[in-house]
Amino acid sequence: MQLIVDQLNHRYKHHSATAVLQAVLKERILGNIALVSSFGAESVALIHLCAMVDRSVPILFIDTQYLFTETLVYQQEITERLGLRCLKIIQARSKDIALHDKYGALKFTDPNACCHVRKTAPLEDALSNYAGWITGRKRFQNAQRAQLEFFEFEPDPKIPGQGRIKINPLAHWSSDDVRTYMDENRLPRHPLVARGFPSIGCAPCTSAVKDGEDPRSGRWRNQEKSECGIHRGKSDTQPIGDPHEPAHK
Ligand code: SF4
Repeated sequence: MQLIVDQLNHRYKHHSATAVLQAVLKERILGNIALVSSFGAESVALIHLCAMVDRSVPILFIDTQYLFTETLVYQQEITERLGLRCLKIIQARSKDIALHDKYGALKFTDPNACCHVRKTAPLEDALSNYAGWITGRKRFQNAQRAQLEFFEFEPDPKIPGQGRIKINPLAHWSSDDVRTYMDENRLPRHPLVARGFPSIGCAPCTSAVKDGEDPRSGRWRNQEKSECGIHRGKSDTQPIGDPHEPAHK
């Protein structure tokens, strides 16, 4: 699969985000593909780009049951406004919540395990129906992503040699590119951005950011954790977890 990824990156090296999405969503060069979106601060740019190619693209939205009410309302607003036809809300199975987080305390006692139970495991289940997924990751976001390509192989930790392809259409976009795209297309902003939340996750783990602070400093503030762990390609170094074996720090 790595060979296919290398060939695709070579073929689309000088192409745009839209050209990559046309190939993936219109020409279906990789088969069934889903977009995974948090409907966060910048998500609407990629959702809009995808919708311009195909409004029926499956959009997987992980509802951890700890999201801000503003995010749930914003998701509905974007879905209606852009005419999205295939939104899939992903949640942890109630038996997994009962087994691992019966009292809802895992977010405080072991946030890595909480993210595994409420994000990584449900997403992994949902993605089993797809050959790959579209992400909004970009090179500028951190050092690990500095070499991020349009296509990336994501190995399956349980089956050596197997895995999925991740598509990163915005790999080469800057923060200004995203803002300009949102302005030019008059796309609605997540309401929490104006209240000091440039990066938005679950309510218990997201705080407002002051001027001059890193935009992601409000996520898991004062903790070692900085990512939820749903990405495990070579451009991400977060630990892979098993919800049945919570990772204790
Ligand atoms: S971000 Fe916080 S509340 Fe949300 S799943 Fe992770 S640890 Fe749990």
